[in-house]
Amino acid sequence: MTRKQQLNKYKKILLASSSTIMEQVDLEKKLLASGEVNFRGDEIDLASEQRNQEFIYLMGERDKRKLDQIQISLEKIESGDFGFCDECGEAISEKRLSAVPCASFCIDCQEKEEVFSKINASNLDQDSTNFKSE
Ligand SMILES: [Zn+2]
Repeated sequence: MTRKQQLNKYKKILLASSSTIMEQVDLEKKLLASGEVNFRGDEIDLASEQRNQEFIYLMGERDKRKLDQIQISLEKIESGDFGFCDECGEAISEKRLSAVPCASFCIDCQEKEEVFSKINASNLDQDSTNFKSE
């Protein structure tokens, strides 16, 4: 497969997943607005109403992030930067791109990033003076 064919393939995948997300968002909004789904079955009270609102908000945030990532990847395809790690500039493996077409990092940098955010999260969770490494 040439680079151009490869880019076209990912472009199609990215465009397809972005329309799937948008359809899903549409559907979820309609279902929630019509009251056909809620978190407590037939028992509708203030708490479940609030939960629905939170749910819509969280879904919206999650989908927005995904759509942003897809948009960034599509721009990278146009600019020729697609498939390279944002951190180290190395080519991201075909295997990884097939699994995660919007990946911005190679597997090595992604792992470092995850370790780093875990350390940050655990620092936030506990008093740093009591922080013990295990
Ligand atoms: Zn990298």
